[in-house]
Parts: sequence; C-alpha cells; structure tokens
Amino acid sequence: MNLTDLTIAEALEKLKSGEITATELTRAYLDRIEKFGDQLNCYITLTPERALADAAESDKRYAAGNPLPLDGIPIGMKDLFATRGIRTTAASHILENFTPEYESTVSQKFIDAGTVLLGKTNLDEFAMGTFSKTSFFGAPISPYQIENKLTAGGSSGGTTSAVASGLAIGGTGTDTGGSIRFPAAITGLVGMKPTYGLCSRWGCVAFASSLDTPGPIARTVDDAALLLSAMAGYDEKDSTSANAGFYVKDRLTQIGLNKLKIGVIKEFDDVEISPDMKKLFDERIEDLKKSGAEIITVSIPNILDALAAYYIIAPAEASSNLARYDGMRYGLRVEGKDLIDTYKKTRAAGFGEEVQRRMVVGTAVLSSESYEVYFMQAARVRRLIADAFNRAFEQCDLIVCPSSAGTALPLDSDLSPLEYYALDLFTVAMNLAGIPACSVPCGLAENKLPLGMQVVGRAFDDMRVLQLAKHIEEFAGLNNKPSEIMGK
Ligand code: GLN
Repeated sequence: MNLTDLTIAEALEKLKSGEITATELTRAYLDRIEKFGDQLNCYITLTPERALADAAESDKRYAAGNPLPLDGIPIGMKDLFATRGIRTTAASHILENFTPEYESTVSQKFIDAGTVLLGKTNLDEFAMGTFSKTSFFGAPISPYQIENKLTAGGSSGGTTSAVASGLAIGGTGTDTGGSIRFPAAITGLVGMKPTYGLCSRWGCVAFASSLDTPGPIARTVDDAALLLSAMAGYDEKDSTSANAGFYVKDRLTQIGLNKLKIGVIKEFDDVEISPDMKKLFDERIEDLKKSGAEIITVSIPNILDALAAYYIIAPAEASSNLARYDGMRYGLRVEGKDLIDTYKKTRAAGFGEEVQRRMVVGTAVLSSESYEVYFMQAARVRRLIADAFNRAFEQCDLIVCPSSAGTALPLDSDLSPLEYYALDLFTVAMNLAGIPACSVPCGLAENKLPLGMQVVGRAFDDMRVLQLAKHIEEFAGLNNKPSEIMGK
C-alpha cells in the first residue's frame, strides 16, 4: 500500500481500524519530502521533529480509544498562519527570522483536531501574487510534467505543490482574490474559499482584511470538507468572525441533483477561455443536466469590473496592514541615520518588488485627491456585485463557472503585472461578495494538465457548495494520485 496516496477519509478509516499508525503515515510523508522536497520547493520550513511528536500523541489517543476528529493526519500549513515557536515568514525577507509567540486560531484548531504538522508551505510574499513567484524563498513548482517547470499557482502554491505531489495529505491556504482556488484548479486539487468569516483570520498575517479568507486544499471534496470542519467556527478574537460553523463527520452526504437550479454567469460568456476549458465546462454542465439539474443563465452585470475594484481595494487595505513592518517591532531592521531613514531602509530592503508596488498603489488610492474617484468608486462596484449575486440566488440555488482561463503556465512565463492580475478574473468577485466558492477538478486538458471549475453559493451555504462540487468531482473522474503524478 502506498501510504501517501491515501485520501484523508481513507487514512482516517485505516488509523481507526488500527491497520496503520499515525507514526507510519507521518514517516511515509517525511520520507517522500526527503526525496522530492528540494525539487518542488513547496516548504519554507519543515518540522519533522514536531511531526513525529504529534504522531506519537495521536497513536496514544488511538490506542486509548479516544482519537480526535483528524487524529494523525499530516498536513502542510501555509506560512502565513502564525505558529508558536515555529518560524512564520509570509515568504518575505522582512519576516524571514520571525518566530511568533502565539498560535493562529486556524492552526490551533488543527492542533485541537489532532493533526500532524509537517511544515510551513511556500507562498507569494504576503500572499500577493498568482504563481508564488514573489516568494523570497523562490517559487514552488507543480509536480505535473516536472521537466517543464510549471507553476503550482499562487498564492497558496506551496500547499498545492505539496498536496498534489503527496508531500502532505492536505493543507491550508488563504484566498483574498483567488489564492486557494486558482492554484488548486491548475494542480488537479479541490480548493475551498469558505464564506468570509467562517474561518478566523486571527493570527493569520494580514493582506486585505475585508477579503482574506482561510480555507482548505485537498485531493478530494470529502477531504476538503473534513479539513474545513476543523478550521471553521466562531472566534471572539476576530471581530469579523461569524457565529456559524461547519461540520462533516466522515464524508459529505449526497444531495440529489434533481430540480436543483444551477446558474451560469452570462457575462463570463464574453471572456476568452481556452478551448479545453470551454469543452470540459460544457461537458460537466451536460452531466448536471442529465442528472436532472436545471441550468439557467444569471446576470452579474458588473462582474467584469471586479478585477479593477479588487486591485484598488486589496492594495489599499494592504498598504495600511503592512505599515506595521517598520523595523521597530517585528522582523528585519536596517539601521539608518535617523528614525525615518531606518523606516525607509528597512522597508526598501525587506519588501520585494510586488509588495512595494502594492504599497505605492494602495497609498495612492487612499490619498485625499484619489480617495473619492478610486477607493469609493471601487467600494460601490463591490456593493453592486454583492447585490447582483444576491439577486441571482433568488433565481437559482448555486452558480458554476470556470476557475481559470487555461492550464498551468511555465514559471518563467514573461507576464506583466497587469497580465498576472488578469488571471484572477474568475475568482475575485466572490471575495468582494464574501460568498463561498469551491474549485473542483473538471477534467484534463489536451496537454494532460488539470483544469477546475467553481461552485459558488450564497453566504453560509458552504455545505451545498461542497455537495455539488462532489457531484462534479465524480463526473470528472480525475485521477490525482500523487504516485502517478510525481512517481513512487
Ligand atoms: N492573485 C491575487 C493577488 O495577487 C490574489 C491573491 C490572494 O488571493 N491572496 O492579489
């Protein structure tokens, strides 16, 4: 048996029955990390000792007959979640040597659920990016067609690289404008951006606070639901935390497709996507129809303006959030001739180019001359989009749309900042609206690379989003066993 091919649901069954131990499972992952880790660059910090200690505790609980919900499940944690005593870098030089004295709520919940921490996964610097190339530690790569050095996506590209290659059974991401769904889509994984507020942001390095959404990345929809069950829940330490939860015991229950009304967004028809994406999306729509679902067209009139609104709001919030990195309290400090000079030198040396670009844009759109024309206008567009989704959900139960225009590109693709931003076209609107969206594999393109599509729901309808995603997963029947993608 190939332990690193097991899904979370399968591993839990075997752990419960005593067929495998948490220590065996953890060792299998550590061995595989040893073998492939450097090549993929998916972890910034590995925690093998902590992992084996966690696994030993899990085995004790199994032996005593009182295991926790995800006991012994080895995961990768995006290096944006603060972990007590373990370096937390946000993939930035400015936090390169930062070791928090506190634990983020999400990572604490994973400890409470009994998971095993393998390490902190790579990402774009402060989660700003789409290919994880802005990481101070270099980009992770996709295990698919490894000789072609394809992107594993971003910003949660370290987690997707690790999970797709079998260097973690599942993991966490954060999604501010698509950073869970885009990387999951192009690596054949399931990536769930829950409703804003369902998972606490406390202790998660802030990018754009009104958009940042922690969520799970896994190989199957059931596994994503299991991880989300551990992560979700009210947190008094996060003022935007919702008084809501999410819980699945072993696997999701199936919903019938008969008479389910599924909306397709009219405005996305005008967006150019690859012929493969179109073909696979249409095939899955046909499958849904054949199973009794009713497909209707819905309109989100301003959805194509979502990108412009996002790239004003996100940098504006980021410029304010990242003001705290001034060399005084956290991380890097480069001495200057006086206080202002120390600020300047520290920030110039500590932040990479893309983060600096966002600081400049964010500060500009919040300046008194620009606030009304840029920031307030973007906030209005955001409201129009949220309202349009609400109206669409009066006509249908759930919405589906592509996750990306095409398959993973080579890491060394020469794209301009605006071309990178345009890759978020299918994902940012759901962050602006705060609603749940799950990317699920919809098949393989002609070039044998995976593609994904999204299921989108009303706020707090996360369960049904995943239930429909599970049907699509079955229709697509993608085989994403790590041993077959990356080798044994
Ligand atoms: N690609 C988007 C950006 O660069 C989204 C990032 C994210 O969701 N964290 O801002």
